[in-house]
Amino acid sequence: MPRLGRRPLLGLGLLATFAAPSLARAATLTGASLDPARTRTRLTLAVEGEQRWSVRAQADPMRLVIQLPGAAWRGTATLAGRGPVRAGRFNAAEDELVLDLASPALPMAGPARAGHIVIDITRVAAARFDAVVRAGRNVLAGTVRGERALPLVVLDPGHGGRDPGAIGTTGVHEKRIVLQAALELKRRLEAARICRVVLTRSRDVFIPLAERVEIAQRRDAALFVSLHADSAPGARGASVYTLSETASDAMSAALAQRENRADLAGGLSLPSVSPDVQRILLSLMRQETRVGSNRLARLAVRELGEEVQLLPNTHREAAFVVLKSPEVPSALVELGFLSDPRDEAALQQPAHRARLSLALSRAVKQWLESASTG
Ligand SMILES: [Zn+2]
Repeated sequence: MPRLGRRPLLGLGLLATFAAPSLARAATLTGASLDPARTRTRLTLAVEGEQRWSVRAQADPMRLVIQLPGAAWRGTATLAGRGPVRAGRFNAAEDELVLDLASPALPMAGPARAGHIVIDITRVAAARFDAVVRAGRNVLAGTVRGERALPLVVLDPGHGGRDPGAIGTTGVHEKRIVLQAALELKRRLEAARICRVVLTRSRDVFIPLAERVEIAQRRDAALFVSLHADSAPGARGASVYTLSETASDAMSAALAQRENRADLAGGLSLPSVSPDVQRILLSLMRQETRVGSNRLARLAVRELGEEVQLLPNTHREAAFVVLKSPEVPSALVELGFLSDPRDEAALQQPAHRARLSLALSRAVKQWLESASTG
């Protein structure tokens, strides 16, 4: 899988955190159950990633505490009691699962199961329980390795809220078209079970550009795809953009310049990032990220070309703020241009949008496949 390990956050104006050491990412616990068996009660924890664990016994109140250093918890944080266990709850502050006991009981390793911590809890005499508590050692410990979660793809429908984006000759707003396209692409990618998908916005709301970038950075996304349908005189067809300090052509430069003003349209003042800082951010953008972004653009151009008309010189470059993540391979797709009446008509047809989302889902799939093998 691509992109393991939590990356330090680096959004616009967050340069200082770049030097912070990468934290090893602990596992995510995705499920827990307590099941009664004839002579024991079985605790099963489902784990994504690698997780160390250990169990201690405590008296007054009588408890078994399963320590799970650094674990993130997803799903229900409480467990209904079974057998000698009265109740269980995950204590996030201490990274531990606390099992309150109704009667003395001790853990034994359960049957090995990939991606799961399995602990069998058996009733014991009070004297034996007390002796284990007094010894003060871990009763049981281990490490489990579960499958990684599917990689995360962040889709970024441009504009929103007070910022309509481009407006077509019939009054169609770009913000609406790109949100529909993003939702369709999300459905398609999730149905293929190749990745998880998060949208920077799933409603008609204004999200500042830097925040869009940070959503992908913070969640350690594998890919970031921004969707637009802007206006550009004389332009028609789909096109794909990656980040470059110098634009590949005047049209791309103008597009980036207009896009980068989206924060103004949304009511924010321009981000207070000096040109120097912008240059530093750009030079920090890793070669690896650039290679990944370019590969995504090539795949998107190839797949879009199978389905819809393309703008000539389909892969272009410009300094889009929304593509400035130094860690996450990113591309901006112009699905078409609302300034062109034929594109405007096509973008409103569900069949045309289905072809776009099919092409982009194939590009994302191929990108993820080559990332996991290479
Ligand atoms: Zn746009």
